[in-house]
Formats: sequence, structure tokens, C-alpha cells
Amino acid sequence: MGISQKIIDQRESLPTFEYKNELIDAIREYNVLVVIGETGSGKTTQIPQYILEGLPELKKIGVTQPRRIAAITVAKRVSEEQGVRLGSTVGYTIRFDDITSPDTQLKYMTDGVLLREATQDPHLSQYSVVVIDEAHERTLETDVLFGLLKKTQRLRPDLKILIMSATLDVEKFSDFFDGCPIFEIPGRTFPVDIVEYKDAQRLASLKSNVVDHAVDAAWHVHTEESAGDVLVFLTGQNDIERACRAFQERVKTESTRCFDQSVKETSVYPLYASLETYDQKAVFEQPKEGVRKVVFATNVAQTSVTIPGIRYVIDSGFVKEKTYDANTGMDALLVTEISQAAAIQRAGRAGRTAPGKAYRLYTQDSFDHMLPDTVPEIQRSSLLGTVLALKKMNIVDVVNFEFIDPPDEKLVRNALKQLYLLGAIDDVGKLTALGHKMSHFPLSPSLARVLVSSAEEYGCSHEVLTMASILAGENDLFRAPSARSRGGQQAVMEAEECKLRFAHHAGDHMTYLNVWYEWKRHDKSRSWCKENWINHKVLESAVSVRRQLVDVMDKIRLPIKRAPRWTPDEKKKKKKNGRIGNDEHGRQVDPVPILKSFLSGYFTNIANKGANRAVFSHYSPDQHLTEGMTAEVNDFMGSPSSSLVALHLHPLCSFSDMLDRNRIRYSELDWVMYMHVTYTNKAVMKGVSKIVWDWIKSGEGRDRIRKLPNTRLNGEDAPNVLEMDHDAQEAEREKIYQDEKKQE
Ligand code: ADP
Ligand code: MG
Repeated sequence: MGISQKIIDQRESLPTFEYKNELIDAIREYNVLVVIGETGSGKTTQIPQYILEGLPELKKIGVTQPRRIAAITVAKRVSEEQGVRLGSTVGYTIRFDDITSPDTQLKYMTDGVLLREATQDPHLSQYSVVVIDEAHERTLETDVLFGLLKKTQRLRPDLKILIMSATLDVEKFSDFFDGCPIFEIPGRTFPVDIVEYKDAQRLASLKSNVVDHAVDAAWHVHTEESAGDVLVFLTGQNDIERACRAFQERVKTESTRCFDQSVKETSVYPLYASLETYDQKAVFEQPKEGVRKVVFATNVAQTSVTIPGIRYVIDSGFVKEKTYDANTGMDALLVTEISQAAAIQRAGRAGRTAPGKAYRLYTQDSFDHMLPDTVPEIQRSSLLGTVLALKKMNIVDVVNFEFIDPPDEKLVRNALKQLYLLGAIDDVGKLTALGHKMSHFPLSPSLARVLVSSAEEYGCSHEVLTMASILAGENDLFRAPSARSRGGQQAVMEAEECKLRFAHHAGDHMTYLNVWYEWKRHDKSRSWCKENWINHKVLESAVSVRRQLVDVMDKIRLPIKRAPRWTPDEKKKKKKNGRIGNDEHGRQVDPVPILKSFLSGYFTNIANKGANRAVFSHYSPDQHLTEGMTAEVNDFMGSPSSSLVALHLHPLCSFSDMLDRNRIRYSELDWVMYMHVTYTNKAVMKGVSKIVWDWIKSGEGRDRIRKLPNTRLNGEDAPNVLEMDHDAQEAEREKIYQDEKKQE
């Protein structure tokens, strides 16, 4: 593959190019270096190539990205710039998708992937250079990597570490790495005027109307401002889709045109972190003469990607962020106010190529009250997976782990307690045999626990693997058309009808299995999925995920067993509206061992039916540790009234449809287990199945709660884990590494 002159010119026009030789020299000289430069200056795509080109003695380069999508697009772009096939010398690895080969010298990957690699090989011996990119995003994984790299550095003084960041607050990174040098690439930016959009004062309180106001502001910019593209920051896919439609509607119906005669029409783009929109390259390309590009985007456009030509920014002042509530133990995405740093970044996006303007949908006063910096993810996340990974690396003293910004101790304690309940650590905080097995899976500790139980206890890993593979993805299995989209109400009805055909009386888990087998019976057909309103991509990816999980099971010698099944009674089959049998031969699969397996990992995600139709009460895991253990229910869960969180069924839940159509009665539901909760204007459960109280009563989780060393993992007293001697731990860890090295 040749490299076009256009690509060469483009590369040479980037701000980093001027500093190529200086950068190479600095990397040669220093083992840890912080590089700072404006978004779009060429850090991500160029600097790793400079290392390839200028420091051939350094072999493999690993570059982390906080977002999967960024890892993919950047790797694609860089392979083009290098004139090589993607997956040869330049490749990428994201969870469940590895596009690299033994020849790969430059590997882009998510920070999560590098973290997993570090758990398997703390020396990161395959790399000569590790680049932590977009460090300013401060994702959970990036933050943990900082701490680990500091240790790796001591074990491997030859390793080159590069930290790349877009914001000014980089002293923090440098301080963390013992005052390492900072290389600054001067930006080429233009001034940006900050404008308070009319009515900002009044709008400040109207979070719910933010889409309408953003569309209004976009319209204002379009009609009143001279040529230049517009970038609007909203919070999520739904809002963005809605805004795109509303704006297009307005273009169609209003007669007002832009006062600037050179602007003839607009083209509208959504941009959020799913493959589909990124595949749509047009958003990154220059629009045709006379066309104004209007992009409605999430936070991805804040620093991760650069859209050329933006002169106007509209900032809603909100972002959707992961938030963990340590009291209820629930992790959720919530719409929250942005920080001042984020507001400044957003505005800055208007001044990349010419002077620009940023319209804020909030007042200066609101700005003054925003947090100066975004709270790092590590301080607002469940640390379950993180703590398990650290334990796996023999870092027993997780509370004293060297974090750049340590999380609240309560979060760490919570994670320890949860891991104890899952059986992954013992009462002195050491990883158990079960915990070791769990840590092999690239899944949440809960889901990993489910797989282990399904293999070792309940003999149904064959089926559970399938369900876990579907659940491991980020997308919903069923497609839910909105009444406003093409097809309208008719499509909504049709989709519901289809969903109902697969619905299993035990809930979503078994429903997924029904879909899986029917799909297989239809030769994994894409058109069959389309007809049945099923997301083909979810099933397709589940096939590959399943294969990889099977490899893990084989590696740690977990058996793959099928759950009991039987041929359904013909009469009964009729009575159930000719429901599809759930395996590939139309036989019924026993749901009990399957649901019990899931409960072993999710026994804290259970809810009890409330008096209202379709409203459940969540029981906080903390409750069952603090309340007295007397009556049957209260014994385990604590007093129900004190721990109520109202939970609703998500419309995609099979129970939602079944209840709507009276296929089941509400009274038939009692206890349910759910996979996760999302928040809209209320808390909504997804992945919901029926469970029986007796299972909980006799289950593993309950056993462990009984045995829970109250004074250690509960209340004020610190568990032993937290009191272990730091230096002794370090010494022990060092020894293990040396032993491992010897064995190699
Ligand atoms: P930084 O990491 O400093 O934000 P990048 O290296 O990501 O900068 O991008 C530098 C420039 O390369 C961008 O401004 C853009 O012009 C160009 N670029 C990056 N990715 C692509 C792509 N996929 N297609 C076309 N151009 C791209
Ligand atoms: Mg970058």
C-alpha cells in the first residue's frame, strides 16, 4: 500500500511535526515523560509513529485510549498513514476483539486491556514503550495504570513511559512520577468569545428542557451567525437523536434563512460513542460549499475526537457520568453538571482553526459554582473489578495503593466486602482459589462468579456461557423502535409482538436463551433478526465472546455442562400460546440451575415486589450486614422499610410485555433478580428474572453473610487486610515476581 502525498502533507501540517526531533530526543533521554498539547495537535496519531520512525531500537509500543471507539479509529487512521494493513505492524486490541499479529509494533488498546495484561504480566514484558494517552480523562483504568506503572518502572527500569494529556493540569502527573519532565507542544488556538445564551438565567433550572434550548440556540447560531460549523454538547444518544430530528424539522418548516448568503443549507450529524456513528466518516469531512455542518455530540467531542471546521460551540452544561452510590451499591449513569475545566475545554473547541464563539446555556453565576475540575472516575465508581485485579497482582493492601487521587476509603471497603461475599477473598483479604478463577475472566467479578458456579455447582455452564456472552455486550438484545421513528406506532406494536413470542415465564435470562436457539435454528440469519426486531450485532458479537469465554474455561479447567432439559407436553405447549421451546431441538431447558448460578453472582441485586404494579424495592447489600438477624426475611435483608429504593421494570424486560398482555399476573412475581439499573427519571431494572426466596435463604451469599466477620468487614473496625504491613506486602510481591521470572 502506498502513502499518498495528501497524507504526508496532512501529517506534516500538524503542530507536533515541528517538534518531531525534539520529541524523539526527549523520549530517548527520559524514561518517563509527560507530553501536553491541545486536542487535535497530533499526539495520539503522530507521536507513536515518531517513536517507530525515530527510535527503531524500541520494539513494541502500546498506546492506551479510554474509549474503545477511539482505539479502533486511531489504529485505522495510523495504519493508513503508515501504508500498512490494519492488524499487521499497526493494530488494536479491545475487550473481546484483538486485531494484532506477532508483527505488531504499534498497538492501540483500551486502558482496560492494558490493565488486564498487567494482571497477567506485571512486567509488561512485551512492551518497550507504554503510552498512557488522554490521561486528562482520568478514567478508572487509567488511574489504576498510573499506580501500577510506577511499580512496573521499579521492576523494569528500561521501560519507557509516556503520559499524554490535553489539559493544563499536568503538574499532577509529573509530580506523581517523581517530577518527570513535561514536554509542551504549543497550541495554535484562536480566541473564543463566551456568550450567555438568552434566557440562560431562566434555563439554568430547567435541566429537563435542555434539548429544546440547545436546538433553539443552534437555530439562533445558524440564522444569526456567519459561516462556520456548529458543535452542540448534549448528554446521550436519546437526547442527541431527538435534537437532530427537532433541528431538521425546524429547517423544513421555518422560512428564516441564514443572514450570511454564503450559507445555503445545513447538514446535521449525531455523534456518540457507538460504532455506527463513527463509521459515518462524513462528520469528520469538510462539508460541501455552502453547507453548514451542525453536530450534536456527547462528551466524546470534548477531547477524544476532533471535528474540523467548528467555529461555534453550544454547551448545555451537562454530561452523563458514571456515578456509584456506595449506600445502595448501585452503579449508574447520571446526568450531572460539568466542571469549569470541562466548560473551558468545550468552548475551546470553537477556536481551533479561526476565532470562534461559545454559547453557554447557563449563566456566569452557574459557571462560578461549578466544580473546578471533573471528579476522577475512581472516586465515583464501584471498585469491585479494580480491587479484584489488584488482589490478583498480589497487592493486598489496596487501601494504601499509590493512587494519583485516592478513592474514598468507603468505596474500597465496599468493594472488599462485596468480594468477600462473592467468595473471591477470604476474611484476611487474600484471594481465594475461587477468586483466582474469577480473575481470569474479562468480565465483572459478579458475572465471572456466575460462570464459575454454573460450571462447578449447578452443571449448566453451556447455557450460562451463552447468556453471559449476550450480557457482556453493551447493547440491548431487542430493538425498541420509538413511536416517533420511521414505522411509528405500527413498528412499536410489531416489535412488542415479536418480543412476546420469545418471552419466557422465568424472565429475561431464559428469554435470551430462546432468542439464541431460534437464531441458530434460522442459520444465524441477519434477515431473521431484522424481521424479529432483534439486534443482530449483539448475537454476532456474543458468538465471538462466547468462544473466548470457552477458552478461559478450558484454560482453568472448568467443565462445560448442559442443564437438564425435557420435551414439553404437547397440550401444555398449546396452552402457552405455542411458545417456542428453548433449545435448538424445541426442548425445554430447566431454568432453576441457571437462575441459581446467576444469583450466586448477583445476590445483592435483588428486589421484592411492592404493592404497586411493576414497582419493586431494592434491598441494599449494606442492610443485611447491619440489621439484626431475626425473622426470615429481615434476617438476610435487614428491615425492608429502611432500605427501600423503588425500582421499575425496563420496557425491554420480558415481564413488562407479559404483564401488559396479562400473560402473567403481577401476583405471580415476588422476588426478582436484576443485572443492572439505569436511571431515566426513575430507577429502572434491566435483565430481570424471577427467583425464589428459598434459593437466597440457602445460597452461598447468605452463608457468607452468616460467617461475615462483623468486626472486620463491617462497621468501624478495619479488616485485617487494611492493617497489613505495607512494606511486608511489597516484599512478598517482589518475591513472587522474581520467582515467576525464574520460572520463565
Ligand atoms: P491529539 O491526540 O493531539 O488530539 P490526533 O493525533 O488525534 O490529535 O489528531 C491529529 C489530527 O489528525 C486531527 O486534527 C485530524 O485532523 C487528523 N485525524 C485524526 N484522526 C483522523 C481520522 N480518522 N481521519 C482523518 N483525519 C484524522
Ligand atoms: Mg488524542
